[in-house]
Amino acid sequence: MNPIEQILTDFPLMILDGALATELERYGCDLNDPLWSAKILLEKPRVIKQVHTDYFEAGADCAITASYQATVKGYRRRGLSELEAAMLIKQSVELAVDARDAFWSIETNQHGRPKPLVAASVGPYGAYLADGSEFHGDYGLCEEELVLFHRERIRLLIEAGADVLACETIPCLVEAKAIARVLKDFPDVYAWLSFSAKDEQHINSGEKIADCARWLEGEPQIAAVGINCTAPQFVESLITEAKANTAKPIIVYPNLGETYDPESKQWSNEGSAEPFVVNTKRWFEAGATVIGGCCRTTPEDIRGIHAWARG
Ligand SMILES: [Zn+2]
Repeated sequence: MNPIEQILTDFPLMILDGALATELERYGCDLNDPLWSAKILLEKPRVIKQVHTDYFEAGADCAITASYQATVKGYRRRGLSELEAAMLIKQSVELAVDARDAFWSIETNQHGRPKPLVAASVGPYGAYLADGSEFHGDYGLCEEELVLFHRERIRLLIEAGADVLACETIPCLVEAKAIARVLKDFPDVYAWLSFSAKDEQHINSGEKIADCARWLEGEPQIAAVGINCTAPQFVESLITEAKANTAKPIIVYPNLGETYDPESKQWSNEGSAEPFVVNTKRWFEAGATVIGGCCRTTPEDIRGIHAWARG
């Protein structure tokens, strides 16, 4: 049984964590950099571990590691050696595993919840480019080139001991297909595949979420299919579309509904009309069984999910 299925056998909902970057900034880290949270792996790894701990304490059943934007190529561009880059990528998993093991070693933390998972973040090729191209997925790369890009980091994350891979903010089906191909080299490993979407039916590339879900249904190593880093108002419809085309668990961890400008790397201030936590309950009722938050969500949001799901 895969680790997500295992949790969903005992609990109706698996709770994810919220944003990492937002919390790192709250702790005083400067993320205005092409490496984004991957820069903090280099500079302040202890703060990353603290944020993972904060989310476990808020009720998260899963920590998503700081490897979203961490790639060997990206660190090499910054002047690190290949070996140093590989160590930092592995360290992203080790920090989350350490935080999880320390949390779980306290007996009172074990009541009424599953042992939390460590999901290694596999960001899209566009996140490595750091030019906002993950928001349209128009990379001009073929599947084979994307396979080569993803294989190296996925191997490092698996070697470091991740429980599952969080393939997230994927903007186009060809990149999902490339990742599914890489997984075949690691037959014991499971991944979730989460797309970023631009409206009620389409992922950022313009392809239909229904078609993506139907394609992934045939991939036994994909443990869940869904949506992240997407405005909350589109999510309920996207769940329905995906669910009609796959029997796999549906995972959603949208952002707060603010608009991100990839060029200035800034968020606009307009939030969603409804509180995030109210939306999460609606998404569960629509059929999502793995729910958390993406950009700008906080431990408070995760605590809110925990309150209705486990309270
Ligand atoms: Zn996000």
